[in-house]
Amino acid sequence: MLLPTQPLDRLLGDRTAKAFARHLGLKTVADLLQHFPRRYSSRGELTPINQIPLGESVTVVADILEVRERRMKGKNGSILEVKITDGNGSMSLTFFNQAWRAKGLKPGQRGLFAGKIGSYQGKLQLAHPDYELFPEDISAEDAKRWADLPIPIYPAASSVTTWAVARAMAVVLDTLGEIADELPAEVIKANRLMPLAEAIEKIHRPQQHADWHAARETLKYHEAFVLQATLVKRRLENQHTAATARVAKNGELLSKFDAGLPFKLTKGQVEIGQQLAQDLATAHPMNRLLQGEVGSGKTLVALRAMMLVADAGGQSALLAPTEVLASQHFKSIEKSLLQTLGPEGAKQVGLTLLTGQMPAAERKRALLQIVSGKAQIVVGTHALIADRVEFMDLGLVVIDEQHRFGVEQREALRQKGKLPPHVLTMTATPIPRTLAVTVFGDLDVSTLTELPAGRQPISSHVVQLSQGALVARTWQRIAEEVSQGRQAFVVCSRIDEDDPGIDLIETGGIAEESPEFLDGTDEMAAEFTKKPKPNLASVVSMTQALREISALKGLSIEMLHGRMTTEQKAEVMGRFAAGELDILVSTTVIEVGVDVPNATVMVVLDADRFGISQLHQLRGRIGRGQHAGLCLLLTAAEEGSLALERVAAVANNIDGFALSEIDLELRREGDVLGSTQSGGRSSLKLLSVIGDSKMIQAARVEAEKVLNQDPTLEKHPVLTEVLKQVDQRAQENLAKA
Ligand code: ADP
Ligand code: MG
Repeated sequence: MLLPTQPLDRLLGDRTAKAFARHLGLKTVADLLQHFPRRYSSRGELTPINQIPLGESVTVVADILEVRERRMKGKNGSILEVKITDGNGSMSLTFFNQAWRAKGLKPGQRGLFAGKIGSYQGKLQLAHPDYELFPEDISAEDAKRWADLPIPIYPAASSVTTWAVARAMAVVLDTLGEIADELPAEVIKANRLMPLAEAIEKIHRPQQHADWHAARETLKYHEAFVLQATLVKRRLENQHTAATARVAKNGELLSKFDAGLPFKLTKGQVEIGQQLAQDLATAHPMNRLLQGEVGSGKTLVALRAMMLVADAGGQSALLAPTEVLASQHFKSIEKSLLQTLGPEGAKQVGLTLLTGQMPAAERKRALLQIVSGKAQIVVGTHALIADRVEFMDLGLVVIDEQHRFGVEQREALRQKGKLPPHVLTMTATPIPRTLAVTVFGDLDVSTLTELPAGRQPISSHVVQLSQGALVARTWQRIAEEVSQGRQAFVVCSRIDEDDPGIDLIETGGIAEESPEFLDGTDEMAAEFTKKPKPNLASVVSMTQALREISALKGLSIEMLHGRMTTEQKAEVMGRFAAGELDILVSTTVIEVGVDVPNATVMVVLDADRFGISQLHQLRGRIGRGQHAGLCLLLTAAEEGSLALERVAAVANNIDGFALSEIDLELRREGDVLGSTQSGGRSSLKLLSVIGDSKMIQAARVEAEKVLNQDPTLEKHPVLTEVLKQVDQRAQENLAKA
């Protein structure tokens, strides 16, 4: 969408603009206009007070009878009580520590009051209701019309309420000039869409519920179309771009490498290897997604492709999402190069590691190797690309664990090279097939379906903290495995007591405006003003605690987390890999790719704090050797909660595909594009990649039609501008990453 980008302060005033920027991340008119309501409350469904059901969300029209302020018993703070009546019955509203509201709420005034009904000392009450007061002289008819108007409820913060957003929106909408529509006229017509300007107006200020339904459909279609146009355009451009690597099919180096491997390639590895050889030999850059279960041997597939590039004199870069993983890849690649090519051959390949935290001298040496072309395989974190590292002749970029790099970053990354390199993206978080063609429509997809022979099964179980005996049994199981010579991972969601820990995907950091219903006691009011932190296990405290558990006496237990230095991390990881440590207590730094075949148990604490695919990734760290794996997911989540459902889904499904479907259903959609993971803004606001897959497919067809007819989009200047913005955002997101 091409919306005005002027800052909000002119229109809203400095203070309001600052609050909007700080609490909601909204800085420009465009940001605000794209801050869409989360839902609409139905004022039409008014409830007579004498028929109000306890525990329900209701809206009542009522007159204010009495306003009273009192101190809380034995506490600092006040309660404002407002008694209202609708002629049939009466009830009270309660506000904690908001005495200032008394100024606006006067006896005799009529208004709408909305919230969740509770009772206190046997009387009905609404705690912290939303409300809107009518003008003094409103007629009964007008009151009814007003009551029927849908009220948009915006994502809000405690200091910027949904009502404040609505007020600001009105100011902006009233002063808004013309808005150019990026959709070609024939697309608007064929899909019976509203003009963009009308859709923006109606999603924010609907006169009836049908208005916002229709507006949403139009705006969703905009998102779907722009997404697909971006992907189709990239695909077309790709077909007209020359690739850098000149790759000989099945070079000598690869044959030698294969001959030296201590195992047989799986059928999938062979087939995908042939596909990659073919891709690398064509004149256009490859853009392929390799998906396969954890442990299916993706890295080996990538390494074989790198052999081909090296044989043709080009360079490859392997990007890992974490430092730990980068150095582990480095070590295991080093090992297989030595094993297969021998010391001389390995030296020729010039394997080089480059991470952000390397000592300056070492880093300089690495950079020199890279720019001179001596390093034919470079392993690193994404500092490798963001850092303006110069390659002599970069032919192939391999991105390990795709879910950390979204569509947008991927594209920006490709634009880094002088000539775009081939890109192979690997993921163990498979993308459901329908999605693969729609959202990742710029990629070709290969899937490794089988695991190498001899892989052991992993059994997974949920352990609810309320089941005390089972928790104790958990530690015993670790002790048993260790006594058999095995090792264990214990994973926590945070480093120490000060660490806020990983964010739940569902909350997205934005609070609902109205607080949860309180049943009105003074104690609860105090709770409300100071929400207790959930008592989450931390790496530091668990390490201590485990060392003191009698079942684990004498075992060597160490910790690993992101605040340790690179050397410390490498040292601990090295000792664990060498079997010197029995238990590794860590954060998700071990989430991806860490390969210690002797580790057979994983215990995840507060498992409900982790995302579904994250848990699946974590679990993939065990069952990699000859011994069966055991994964225990500890959680305090309650019976029947969504949190428990998610954890149970992981325990009950070992199939990554099934989990990725479940995950997508429960995730915030923006994450699918990946940019939110690096703190950037996603372009998908309304579109649901699962729920709207039909629309997305339809938009793809339309986008292809438009771009096939007009590949440079000469006749579509607004769309061109919008697509430019998408690319720009991709660059910004990469810079932030
Ligand atoms: P992932 O797909 O999770 O990245 P990896 O590439 O890390 O899996 O492979 C896991 C382990 O399996 C590695 O130790 C690797 O050497 C080994 N491996 C890969 N391919 C085979 C194979 N065909 N047969 C046996 N082991 C294999
Ligand atoms: Mg891997």
